[in-house]
Amino acid sequence: MLQSVVLPNSVPEAIAALSAPGSALLAGGTVLMPRVNAGDDAITTLVSLKRAGLTGVRVSAGSVEIGTATTLAELAEADALAFLRPALDAIASPTIRNMATVGGNLFAKQPYGDLGACLIALDAQVTIKGAGGTRTQPVAQVVAAPLAAGEIATAITFSLPATDGFRFAKAGRKALNAAAIVTVAAIVEVPGGTVGKIRIGLGGVAPHAVRAVSVERALIGRPFDAEHVRNAAAEALKDIDPFDDAYASAWYRARVTPVHIRRALLGA
Ligand SMILES: Cc1cc2nc3c(=O)[nH]c(=O)nc-3n(C[C@H](O)[C@H](O)[C@H](O)COP(=O)(O)OP(=O)(O)OC[C@H]3O[C@@H](n4cnc5c(N)ncnc54)[C@H](O)[C@@H]3O)c2cc1C
Repeated sequence: MLQSVVLPNSVPEAIAALSAPGSALLAGGTVLMPRVNAGDDAITTLVSLKRAGLTGVRVSAGSVEIGTATTLAELAEADALAFLRPALDAIASPTIRNMATVGGNLFAKQPYGDLGACLIALDAQVTIKGAGGTRTQPVAQVVAAPLAAGEIATAITFSLPATDGFRFAKAGRKALNAAAIVTVAAIVEVPGGTVGKIRIGLGGVAPHAVRAVSVERALIGRPFDAEHVRNAAAEALKDIDPFDDAYASAWYRARVTPVHIRRALLGA
């Protein structure tokens, strides 16, 4: 049963507080608090990130650093990140986005993972701090395996994409609070009509957000036209591990993933 909530004033203090048995890291609480309220006996102390100094978006010379305790609503207000607004607007509802944090989104289990898909496409890196020091890991690895006990993700960094280089599409059942059937985020650069650079992140089609490496391989160096994109999108079946849930069957997810990759890349 929950016995205390601590509010450390720094990351080292938060790491120290997490070493106590039964402690859990609290960010916006949109995933964790329902567990606590349901009487999760494993959690006796909540270590809140509220005062640990992990909020804010900093942009300098084309590089972006986001504090992990930044809420999704705050992220949507960053002018330099306007390209992410369609993705952020598709997450949950304004009420949830006012509380939910960027870091929490990475560690919320599927069927969520819209921001994870975007950050995989952006080749974002996560700074992780713990008692053993600081390390950096790509988002694709962070969402695939839990952090070690007592570790905290503190920042996310990536380079701004080229203007109009970011693409996004999400298929869900309704406008608000609709977990993804499939989410597609991509960075694509097409100098002279040929695909020069491409990175694709997918959400909703595996136990965590994944990179669509097979689609990328099939498109790189090829003409960026409907035929090549359609053929490459079909390769996504090698990258995904779809599941059944209340929103869609695994069969349906597999069927529509190539369609939404094509829509995200070509806009049609
Ligand atoms: C109704 C509803 C609809 C939603 N719809 C969508 C959707 O459409 N798309 C989508 O992508 N997401 C969706 N979500 C997920 C939502 O984005 C997450 O709930 C939210 O981002 C989690 O953030 P939080 O700050 O509330 O995390 P918390 O609930 O505070 O924490 C969640 C987990 O992450 C861990 N954690 C948090 N921050 C860190 C950190 N910095 N380092 C290490 N571990 C950390 C916590 O310890 C905990 O285990 C939805 C959620 C709800 C409740």
